[in-house]
Amino acid sequence: MNTSSLVEQEIRIEQSCNQRSREGESTTLRYFIWTIGCQMNKAESQRIAGYLDAAGHQATTSFSHADLVVLNTCVVRQSAENKVLGTLGLLKGLKDRNPNLQILVTGCLVNADTQELRRGFPHVDLWFKPGDYSELISWSQKRGIPIKHRVNLPRAFSPCAFIPIIQGCDNFCSYCIVPYRRGREVSRPLGEIVCEVEQLVNRGIKEVTLLGQNVDSYGHDLPGHPDLADLLNELSNIDDLLRIRFLTNHPKDITLKLIDTMASLNKVCEHLELPVQSGDNDILKAMRRGYTVERYRELVRTIRSKVPQISLSTDIIVGFPGETEEQFERSLALVKEMRFDAIHVAAYSPRPGTIAWREYEDDVPAEIKKERLHKIEELQAAIAGDINSQLQGQQVEVLVEGKKREKWFGRTRSNKLVFFQDAGDWLGQLARVQIEKTSPWSLIGQVKK
Ligand code: SF4
Repeated sequence: MNTSSLVEQEIRIEQSCNQRSREGESTTLRYFIWTIGCQMNKAESQRIAGYLDAAGHQATTSFSHADLVVLNTCVVRQSAENKVLGTLGLLKGLKDRNPNLQILVTGCLVNADTQELRRGFPHVDLWFKPGDYSELISWSQKRGIPIKHRVNLPRAFSPCAFIPIIQGCDNFCSYCIVPYRRGREVSRPLGEIVCEVEQLVNRGIKEVTLLGQNVDSYGHDLPGHPDLADLLNELSNIDDLLRIRFLTNHPKDITLKLIDTMASLNKVCEHLELPVQSGDNDILKAMRRGYTVERYRELVRTIRSKVPQISLSTDIIVGFPGETEEQFERSLALVKEMRFDAIHVAAYSPRPGTIAWREYEDDVPAEIKKERLHKIEELQAAIAGDINSQLQGQQVEVLVEGKKREKWFGRTRSNKLVFFQDAGDWLGQLARVQIEKTSPWSLIGQVKK
């Protein structure tokens, strides 16, 4: 469902819901968190929900049922920003009808200077920077709205939890707005992360995904400089934690120590997100990525030799300023050569304030960008289809995350999405599934008991 239809639907819901919220007059609020963007945003939304739950507030399923709305925003691409702005505009209508509605905004839309945002959207009650929960807490204290900081745990929706380990990014890739919005890298202390994961495991969590814009930078700003490999070693000692993942890695920063640690620790899943962005060295240079195609190729060779079962995902941007047909063909050729398990492909869109926006003309026509995007998607669908078809008839281990349309679903260690049908209760269990049908995007099978 796109944002506009979602919000239109919200507006159609009867006003009585808002009426009820005014009549309630208690400090228990119904809240709704709207999230768009990356896993980091999803993790932060879970964390905010954890704070609100701990204070006794209740989650609701829509804007119009809520007394408090949190928009967790993304502006990495123009399309995401448009959705955010559209949703903010439509929330104004809800606030006009229910002035008691509290609207809070976080995520990448919120930069250091919120003055302009406050002028443009006076119906928003609080703008707080991503991960800056102290601003949220002090706002809530002033309003007499209880929000409890003491429970520093994300809410567990499934046996899998996302754990931010490092905020911000120091890299300044030329196309990327993230460092301007999320600021410089700040790592969470290793002990704090281990303690949080232990508590989550005590509550039934079986798998954690460690998150950062660049997890390979983890720890450089901490006393003693622990790194991601050290953190993985510590987390591996937690009994009953079955699986550990992490994302996103940076090809210029990933170390041999990390690859060796992945290879040696059973609990670390054979899955890496390693964005290449382009198959052309001049484009990579203009993107300020800090590696060449040759270095990336060598890295993949090393990873595959040390972790043979590795499943690799990547990101590619097409239509970067000045990208010629020949340069695009190099990206296409790299995709063919690398045989990634998954690709997130995006058409370049200039983000005001970035280096690319300042220095380069967005000169690749929209229809060419679209065409290139489709070419990568089409090629990748064939490659992923072929890779997945090799699992036909095989048994795979699936950690079951939930049920959708009568089918259980979960992921393999290599991050393949698997569905199966069974009358038993499999939530949070490891299931052995015999694969019967494959597609580029998912697998279907029978559970073996
Ligand atoms: S590594 Fe580059 S693309 Fe990734 S968040 Fe940092 S600046 Fe953005």
